[in-house]
Amino acid sequence: MSSLRIAIVGAGPAGLTLARLLQLNNVSCQVFELDTESLSRDQGGTVDLHPRGGQLALQEAGLTEEFKRHSRPEGEAMRLLKFDGRVLFDENLQTSIRPQEYANRPEIDRMQLRHLLLRSVKPGTVVWNKKLQRVEKSSSNPTQFNLHFENGIEEGFDLVVGAEGAWSKVRSYVTDQRPYYSGITGVELWATEFDTKHQWLSEFIGAGQCFMFDEGRAILCQKLGNNSIRVYAGVRQPEDWVETCGIDWTQPEEARGKLVGQYFSDCADDLKRAVLDASENLVPRKMWMLPVGYRWKSTPGVTLLGDAAHVMTPFAGVGVNLAMVDSLDLAKAIVSCEGNPEKIPHAIEAFEDEMLTRAELFAKKTYKGLVNHFSANGGEEMVEMMLKG
Ligand SMILES: Cc1cc2nc3c(=O)[nH]c(=O)nc-3n(C[C@H](O)[C@H](O)[C@H](O)COP(=O)(O)OP(=O)(O)OC[C@H]3O[C@@H](n4cnc5c(N)ncnc54)[C@H](O)[C@@H]3O)c2cc1C
Repeated sequence: MSSLRIAIVGAGPAGLTLARLLQLNNVSCQVFELDTESLSRDQGGTVDLHPRGGQLALQEAGLTEEFKRHSRPEGEAMRLLKFDGRVLFDENLQTSIRPQEYANRPEIDRMQLRHLLLRSVKPGTVVWNKKLQRVEKSSSNPTQFNLHFENGIEEGFDLVVGAEGAWSKVRSYVTDQRPYYSGITGVELWATEFDTKHQWLSEFIGAGQCFMFDEGRAILCQKLGNNSIRVYAGVRQPEDWVETCGIDWTQPEEARGKLVGQYFSDCADDLKRAVLDASENLVPRKMWMLPVGYRWKSTPGVTLLGDAAHVMTPFAGVGVNLAMVDSLDLAKAIVSCEGNPEKIPHAIEAFEDEMLTRAELFAKKTYKGLVNHFSANGGEEMVEMMLKG
């Protein structure tokens, strides 16, 4: 397998997990990433890794101990409120016995996860500052591919893996399908150094996370391991809401005030305060998804995984877990062709079939989560799910 040239585009959880698993099996690969270096961009909030999802992939990658060192079991503690402040569920006050399906899901900051995976791959595996624009078939060898980046071309890959998330350029090689707007926009708000600057917010959230779901709106607060908090104020609004709602997002203090005044004014004071107190940064984010059950025709030499293959909204909390299991399965498929590279297209087609069948199941669950969370009884339904599975 040493002669096979594999390019992975994107150094997110999917791309790095795949690189680590391939290298463990003596299969070489390169990862091309648009970030200029590992710390050049904030990696987002926190994600929970499930026993049969991200944790399984890390176990196969020999990284369980590293994960235990950096993950936060206490981050699982959930507090659920009604819009008027009534507490529906609080794992800070009582030890709940979650059904197996929802148990043992420690949180890890995305930045920690990226570093843990980066440390595990061979030096020089990731080539930074490589923003892919398109994939093209090589003119000199029709079974190979060239990658066109903003700053140059890398030539002669036998296999190209698109692991560059929702707006994958590798995907454009295999299908014209693009993600569409899910109907939900989340305004992401940051509170840093909570131990000194945001003690009230820290106590309000508890050890892990505090959520409020209601008709057409939600407030989600999460503690990270780096002494910071993310609050997401979600609204069900049209795709152009960010541009047309009359809120000037470049004026964060005024924007938070208008957001609360126009969309959360009848909520409990504590919930409003959570949005107003998270004052260090504000980023409106539209949420995108591929159609539930979307598939493409398998294309020899080019494949996708993670969000590039099946981006969905975060309302079942499975995206990173699916991405890492995809990596595990793709690594197994490639390694199983050791010595028989001609078998790779068939092995990848089988991998894609299994991945997309699994993704469809979770995309349905996620869509149900989106509808339920943004409904009047969203909180009650979540409590029911947390208790009964
Ligand atoms: C608010 C929010 C909360 C979430 N919470 C959870 C959760 O609790 N649990 C969970 O399981 N999932 C969660 N998810 C989903 C999860 O974040 C994604 O499913 C997961 O990150 C997908 O991993 P990935 O490696 O496929 O893609 P990404 O994480 O998107 O990584 C893609 C990488 O490719 C790079 N890249 C992008 N374009 C290019 C290009 N053109 N050229 C080169 N490189 C490129 C990016 O810089 C990035 O490093 C959440 C998502 C959101 C938005």
